[in-house]
Amino acid sequence: MMKIIQTVIEETSEQRAILDENMARMSEAQNFAVSSCYEHKETNTFRMHHVNYTILRERFGLPAQLAVVANKYACAAAKTALRKKRSRQPKFSGTSIHYDTRSSTINLNKGIASLLTKEGRIKLTFSIPKYFQRYTDWDAKGSNLVKCRDGKFRLMISVEKATAESNKKGKVLGVDRGINNLIATSDGWLYDSAHVFSVKKKYVGLRSRLQSKGTRSASRHLSKVRGREQRFMRDVNHVVSRRLIDSVGENGVVILEKLKGIGEARHRRKQNWLFSNWAFYQLEQFLLYKGEEAGVAIEFVRAKDTSRTCSACGNMDRGQRQGSTFSCKACGIILHADLNASRNILHKYTLTGCPVNQPIAPQMS
Ligand SMILES: [Zn+2]
Repeated sequence: MMKIIQTVIEETSEQRAILDENMARMSEAQNFAVSSCYEHKETNTFRMHHVNYTILRERFGLPAQLAVVANKYACAAAKTALRKKRSRQPKFSGTSIHYDTRSSTINLNKGIASLLTKEGRIKLTFSIPKYFQRYTDWDAKGSNLVKCRDGKFRLMISVEKATAESNKKGKVLGVDRGINNLIATSDGWLYDSAHVFSVKKKYVGLRSRLQSKGTRSASRHLSKVRGREQRFMRDVNHVVSRRLIDSVGENGVVILEKLKGIGEARHRRKQNWLFSNWAFYQLEQFLLYKGEEAGVAIEFVRAKDTSRTCSACGNMDRGQRQGSTFSCKACGIILHADLNASRNILHKYTLTGCPVNQPIAPQMS
């Protein structure tokens, strides 16, 4: 798994001069190498390396590893331009340099990068914005040093984490997504959606008032309200997905229903307009990526009959569900309806591959 984190270099004025100079020389060298590609009608990195290397070292004073990088990126740019039949030669503007693990060493925890320049390696400190701090224990790979329009140098660092794939031998959790309860899990957690609904309702009302006004300031306000509403839902989904992933832990499995459209069948309820498919889709996406980080597998089962089957005895009948209560006509068990559904989702997964003469549902205590 890979991410790119954006850090801000906090350079001294002396270092700034070195970085500026280095960037200027690097772009000159790359532009020379591009011309050389055109001249030799060749964009193969290895063949052009032999043509350019000595010149890049001697004329432009680049250290060995930067000469290699300059040639490599020049060849790639020339290749793209020729393939797309662009009339003009590509030109490097001197606003970014690529660093690989041979031309840089990055310590994310200490916020220190050692970058190769014409003057040798220089040690730079950088700050990591709060959002990206969650990745500081990942492995730093390559990076791009960029001089931004605001005049600041930023280091865009590719970070990688070896993801542990779930062996699926840990805890298995069935998850039902619904309307009255946003989430019900087979181990008994219910996330009541009352609060989410009341907040959503407030936003929906505010939006429709603003829409009917139709003035320019109303439409500006409207887009702000939309943003706030989306952030609210995203926060809810972050909290829910985090809790689900943490509750199964490494090597666990989270089972969800494959939902085709929330508008269909069992989800066709009055409050539907409040709750978009998008929110459910986003929750799935969050679970998938958080699961990948934590070594938790996310599996899907078919939604069919999960709400009208008894999770204790397997009896399937209409009318066993009354509002939020499920009462089985066969074995008489009374359960919370969403909880019953989440257990059925769990069983659909755990029973896959069982011999057909086995009971359909296991005995639940
Ligand atoms: Zn039953």
